[in-house]
Amino acid sequence: MRLVVIGGGPAGIQAAQTAARLGAEVVVIERDVIGGAANQWDCVPSKAMIATGALVSRARRAEALGLEPLSPVVDLGALGARVREIEHKLAGSMTEQLESQGVRIIRGSGHLLGPHLVEADPSSGTGPEQLDADAVLLSTGSYPRVPDWAEVDGERVLTTRQAYPPPEIPERLVVIGSGVTGVEFVHMFRSLGSEVTLIVSRQQVLPQKDPEVAAALEADFLERGVRLMKGARAVGIERDEKSVAVRCDDGREAEGSHVLLCIGSVPASGGLGLEAAGVVTSPSGHVPVNHHCQSNVPHIYAAGDLSGRLPLASVAASQGHKVAEHVMGLHTREHRHLDYDKAASAIFTEPEIADVGLAEAEAFALGRKIRVTKVPYAANSRALIDGDARGFVKLVSDPATGIVLGGSIVGANAAELVSVIALAVTANLRVIDLAESLFVHPALAEALAEAAE
Ligand SMILES: Cc1cc2nc3c(=O)[nH]c(=O)nc-3n(C[C@H](O)[C@H](O)[C@H](O)COP(=O)(O)OP(=O)(O)OC[C@H]3O[C@@H](n4cnc5c(N)ncnc54)[C@H](O)[C@@H]3O)c2cc1C
Repeated sequence: MRLVVIGGGPAGIQAAQTAARLGAEVVVIERDVIGGAANQWDCVPSKAMIATGALVSRARRAEALGLEPLSPVVDLGALGARVREIEHKLAGSMTEQLESQGVRIIRGSGHLLGPHLVEADPSSGTGPEQLDADAVLLSTGSYPRVPDWAEVDGERVLTTRQAYPPPEIPERLVVIGSGVTGVEFVHMFRSLGSEVTLIVSRQQVLPQKDPEVAAALEADFLERGVRLMKGARAVGIERDEKSVAVRCDDGREAEGSHVLLCIGSVPASGGLGLEAAGVVTSPSGHVPVNHHCQSNVPHIYAAGDLSGRLPLASVAASQGHKVAEHVMGLHTREHRHLDYDKAASAIFTEPEIADVGLAEAEAFALGRKIRVTKVPYAANSRALIDGDARGFVKLVSDPATGIVLGGSIVGANAAELVSVIALAVTANLRVIDLAESLFVHPALAEALAEAAE
């Protein structure tokens, strides 16, 4: 089996590793960094900068933990070097792992010439190479959306790709877009000392999330002096030497030193030769796939952001794994389809937010009977010991069977804790299974057991 993977992000790498382990001959074509945008631009650098910001805000609360006041100063050069070092380490270890499994990596761009023929244009300039393939995985990801009313200059008008770190810590930052990416950047730059205005097109930040969860985040933003411009849609940006002004459709203006666009992403399906292979795209440019991640051409798969499913690195990697199993014929054995409704996700703000499965508001909208239990962090001894008792754990279960259907966590370490609920949701555990688990004391996880009682 010859598998050619175009795009070495989480989806492509996971597929390559699994297929190679199962005996396939695998080639990965990657034009930039092994690990993908996830490693170079998205998950890793944003969380590395958030980790620094978290230490700064923790230091600002030092007095509450019995220390003299601390005032850390950000060293932008050192911060940038740290972010790039993590990226290089991860790319290096992933490359080593792929090569040790016999995967061939071609540095350059790839595109389809026909249903079973891929062309690689190596960046070394050695000239194009044609590769025969029994199966092809398209995992080229996505890139930030730039509306036609914005001109990105990388100095004052930025996309997320120019923010790691930016040329300088913005004195007054305007963030456009209050989805997951937007709120993470608000949190990050506020922690690093920027004054921040967030343009929120609706009446709630994180419009897709449980209103109670969004309200907790808004309260934190307001407490930290973030200015929320609600119900405003940005329609234009003017800039001069020192400042930017974002015009909104209702006539309001947000003024700042820099503006950051966080208004979604566009699938990287251009230039892939999809027509030559007969692969169709949706009007949004994604490659629609079935539950095996097959496109309309059965041996050509798409995974990750290109597939238009949940745009998460974790989901991309799981799709890649499933693709490899399907390519190698393993789906005929015990094979479970990915259940996107059970994917855990997190927002790395302060407090952290994480959820999985059915949300209370969603159940209400569906008219589904549920049992909801909620425990505040303020009742948890570990949270009090750590000096950060903001937030809550909310568990959603089926009142008839006790089976855990979902949960939301707002508070310290939510992204780690939600894994317990994710396991319960995937394995159809009951609340009693959580309640009777012997967790560590004192630990934040005890709040989960308590919510399950
Ligand atoms: C700011 C930000 C933060 C995020 N944080 C998180 C997070 O914390 N957790 C999480 O789960 N998700 C996060 N995401 C989402 C996550 O980054 C994406 O869902 C994930 O990267 C998608 O993986 P992928 O495999 O589709 O491809 P990508 O990671 O996008 O990689 C695609 C690769 O394909 C390469 N490529 C493209 N075209 C070609 C071609 N023609 N030839 C060769 N190579 C090509 C690119 O160079 C790239 O390396 C974040 C997104 C953003 C924007």
